[in-house]
Amino acid sequence: MSSVALALRVHAPEYLERFGDRVPLGHRKVLGCITRCRTGELGGVQFQCDSCGSDHWVGRSCGNRHCPNCQKNKTSDWLAKQTDRLLPVHHFLVTFTVPEELRSLLRSNQREGYAAILLVAAKRSAT
Ligand SMILES: [Zn+2]
Repeated sequence: MSSVALALRVHAPEYLERFGDRVPLGHRKVLGCITRCRTGELGGVQFQCDSCGSDHWVGRSCGNRHCPNCQKNKTSDWLAKQTDRLLPVHHFLVTFTVPEELRSLLRSNQREGYAAILLVAAKRSAT
């Protein structure tokens, strides 16, 4: 169980008792999923280990997209895939937040738009 799940199992009941009437239903569902994930409350699976031959039982996972237990492998897979895509050179990742009003203009004029953004950023970083 992740430390997030453990912390939620300990503190979520009191939190929900105090503020539950103001917590959106979707958030309560996520808390329920994370706190019950792999505990056995969602059922479980019995299997025999190919290596040692022993029988093992594991609790079912919740599968919720917000659950750190369930998303750990997906996150690791995504990170490995992104790492494989890295070019073998030193580089930087720069992220700009463009105001909503300018996004369609930027999409249709990418060359000029990105050049203008980088020019302004370079001028501001020089001052
Ligand atoms: Zn889960």
